[in-house]
Amino acid sequence: MRKKIIAGNWKMNKTFQEADELVESIAQGLKELNLSNKEVVLCPPFLYAEMVSDYAEEYPFSVGVQNVSEYKRGAYTGEVSAEMIQSMDINYVIIGHSERRAYFHESDDMLAGKTDRALAYGLTPIFCCGEQLESRKDETHFEVVKAQVVDGLFHLDKDEIKHVVIAYEPVWAIGTGETASKEQAQEMHKFIRKLLAAKYNQEIADEITILYGGSVKPDNAIELFAEPDVDGGLIGGASLKADDFIAIVDAMKE
Ligand code: PEP
Repeated sequence: MRKKIIAGNWKMNKTFQEADELVESIAQGLKELNLSNKEVVLCPPFLYAEMVSDYAEEYPFSVGVQNVSEYKRGAYTGEVSAEMIQSMDINYVIIGHSERRAYFHESDDMLAGKTDRALAYGLTPIFCCGEQLESRKDETHFEVVKAQVVDGLFHLDKDEIKHVVIAYEPVWAIGTGETASKEQAQEMHKFIRKLLAAKYNQEIADEITILYGGSVKPDNAIELFAEPDVDGGLIGGASLKADDFIAIVDAMKE
């Protein structure tokens, strides 16, 4: 059975003290939940990853970061390598978030390189894809998502792709309060799984966790997560409030 995951992307938010309080509240809340067959991943800014990892030693969650360099090591000022991340016992890395694609001009080639680098160091990429509003309106959203998945991931072989988590995040639903309907989410997740089955095989496609992201809140999480191809969520805004995040984790049923 494929793994269900709820990942919180804190983006560039919180001071160190605020982050400490947030992770402590989330950690306490998680202790009260039944987390069998679901994994919670917190993705703080790099600077706080060690502090969050310290909590993860005692509480039931894993740690991820929000980016990784496509370069191995060396003179790349400001970059953080997969090797460094691995050496801090961090397991997940978000790759290709729409904000990085848009504001930092991350191309499909770069994202393919980052994915390779992450996998080479045993990190699980949470590979993001998703269309802009214009594509949804002119009904090219399937083509756009297909191109992102093919260009970013389909150079991987069968053993590698199994270690990737995909997050479908329609850009028009990120931080806007506008959520894809459960039907829109399911339709795209099923489409992505079909792409995986065609490229690899059905067994592999059925094993890969596909998350939905885009204004997931406690009040819409239950219906989104009940869809058969939605294996959890990548949560932005609501992951910054412990109560909301815990309620979303709880909404993911087995
Ligand atoms: C995100 O940035 O990955 C995201 C899904 O944000 P939000 O939940 O705030 O829409």
